[in-house]
Amino acid sequence: MAKYTGPACKLCRREGEKMFLKGARCYSPKCAFERRGFAPGQHGRMAKAGGRSDRESDYARQLRAKQKARRTYGILERQFRRYFGVARRLRGMTGLNLLQTLELRLDNVVYRMGLAENRAQARQLVNHGHFTVNGHKADIPSMILRQGDVIAVSETARHTTFFKEAADLAEKRMCASWLDRDLKGLTGRVLRVPERAEIDGNLNEQLIVEYYSR
Ligand code: SF4
Repeated sequence: MAKYTGPACKLCRREGEKMFLKGARCYSPKCAFERRGFAPGQHGRMAKAGGRSDRESDYARQLRAKQKARRTYGILERQFRRYFGVARRLRGMTGLNLLQTLELRLDNVVYRMGLAENRAQARQLVNHGHFTVNGHKADIPSMILRQGDVIAVSETARHTTFFKEAADLAEKRMCASWLDRDLKGLTGRVLRVPERAEIDGNLNEQLIVEYYSR
C-alpha cells in the first residue's frame, strides 16, 4: 500500500498543531512547529497556523479534521475512505467505529506498545516481517487486530540489537491501556477494543463523519 513520503513536519504545520510524527525530535527545540508555527508555503506566514481563518467554513473544519486523523495514522485518502465505509456498515457510532479500526491496525498497535518511536517506523518494522500475530508471520501494516490477538517480535528479529534497544526504550514509553505488553518476552496482547477515552482526544470524529456525509 502506498504511503506519504514527503516531509512530516509540514503536515504538523498545515494542521496547526504538533502531531508527533517523528519521535524524539518532536520533544526537542528542533521541532519545526516550535520554530515555524505557521502554515507551510508561500503565503503561510499570512495564514494562521493550520490555514485557519476567522471565517472558517464548515467544510474547511470538516476537511481539516479528516486530514488530521488521516495524517496522524499515516493513511492515504483512498484507504481512509475505505475505512470510513467499513465503519459506517458496522453497528454503533460510525465515528467511533472509524477511530477503533484505525487504532487496531497492526502498525498502530506496535507503536502503542512502545516498540517504535513513531507510526512510520512501526509500519516499516511490520513491513520488514519482524512481527508475528498469533504465531503467524504478519507483514501487513494495515492488518486489523481483534481482542485477544497476540503480537510478538519474530524469533530472528528478537536477537537483533535494534529490538534489544527498543525494549529498553519502550520501558520509558507508555503502553496503551487496552494493550498488555511483556517487554522481556517482546510480546503484547490486545485486551479489548479501545474505548473513546483511550483514543487521542484531539481527533474530532464527528467532523469526519460530516465530511464524508456531504
Ligand atoms: Fe511535528 Fe514537530 Fe514532530 Fe516535526 S518535529 S513531526 S513538526 S511534532
